[in-house]
Amino acid sequence: LEAKEEFEHSSLAVDVMRPRRADPALAVLTQEGMTVGEVETLVESTHYSGFPVVVSQESQRLVGFVLRRDLLISIDNARKRQEGVVSASQVVFTEHAPTQPDDAPPPLRLRGIMDLSPFTVTDHTPMDITVDIFRKLGLRQCLVTHNGRLLGIITKKDILKHMAQIANRDPESILFN
Ligand code: ADP
Repeated sequence: LEAKEEFEHSSLAVDVMRPRRADPALAVLTQEGMTVGEVETLVESTHYSGFPVVVSQESQRLVGFVLRRDLLISIDNARKRQEGVVSASQVVFTEHAPTQPDDAPPPLRLRGIMDLSPFTVTDHTPMDITVDIFRKLGLRQCLVTHNGRLLGIITKKDILKHMAQIANRDPESILFN
């Protein structure tokens, strides 16, 4: 990522994050309660490289982040090898196995593939700081929260697009900054 002068327009994380107002909601997984089939449908209906995991849809409290690739590989492996894992199996990212009815299919436990400390900034974090963090930590994406609730995501490409937009819109201020 290039120099940060471009951001001295005081852009904030909320100006760069997705989803934008008109976009579909952030695609998230819940730490329990979704089935293998539901997770597959969500993953396959999008092209996102990763999915935040939240406590529940209501709380939107962040638990971790899973990569699309790791999800697909784990589900595929489990379907092939893990005794009894089927579409109706519950996917769990929690530490402990969920309590389920006796006749429920065995759960698929995926805590192992989740990044438990994904990088986050708040919606009001200035973009020059966010860009600095991306560069220094070599991040691919970062999550955006407000009062502990997950709001959105910023990828490296989102930042590059935003920089290009600023450069097009406002070349003078970059030259003279
Ligand atoms: P890239 O930005 O490198 O193409 P992605 O394919 O993961 O990476 O993301 C494509 C776009 O979708 C980006 O603008 C990103 O902010 C957004 N995005 C990424 N993950 C999600 C998600 N889980 N839900 C909604 N939007 C997302």
